[in-house]
Amino acid sequence: MTARPVETVLSRLRGVREVGPGRWTALCPAHEDRSPSLSIRETSNGTVLLKCHAGCPTAAVLTALGLSWRDLFSAPLPGRGGRLTRAEREAARRAEVEAELRRRIETACDELHRRLCVYVRAVNFALLDADFETYEKLAYWVHRREWLEHLLDSLESRDAEAQFWALREGTRWIASQNS
Ligand SMILES: [Zn+2]
Repeated sequence: MTARPVETVLSRLRGVREVGPGRWTALCPAHEDRSPSLSIRETSNGTVLLKCHAGCPTAAVLTALGLSWRDLFSAPLPGRGGRLTRAEREAARRAEVEAELRRRIETACDELHRRLCVYVRAVNFALLDADFETYEKLAYWVHRREWLEHLLDSLESRDAEAQFWALREGTRWIASQNS
């Protein structure tokens, strides 16, 4: 007999409080959470719904818990021969693709963030106590620094559109630096 998905989820969370039948709140594991921001709900078919009210994507919450999307769904009933319905298979596949894409975007953002930071740190260092002449010589970098910092912020944001923009611009810019 396997545990209900909600039991698995709740056992990995901190600050769990039952707030109603099939409803709990807990500290969100995906961000620095002081007031319980995570809502947990168990639907009538045993599926677990997670929502961080601070805005963490469910994929991030699952990663922090060491769980996958599959863990939110109860095992198929024995009566159906242990098989998922077509719709369930589709939903699980889509959720997995979505989580994988999300993971790849985060990895690409982290990598680019790391590379751009090297430039920003170098510029900041060069401009430390710089005199007017140095500033003039480094004019390109004085202007670039602001833009680079904006890219860094975008890469760290949870806004996919901003992340895509920063990935495109930053990758292009780095390529132009190395050519
Ligand atoms: Zn959160």
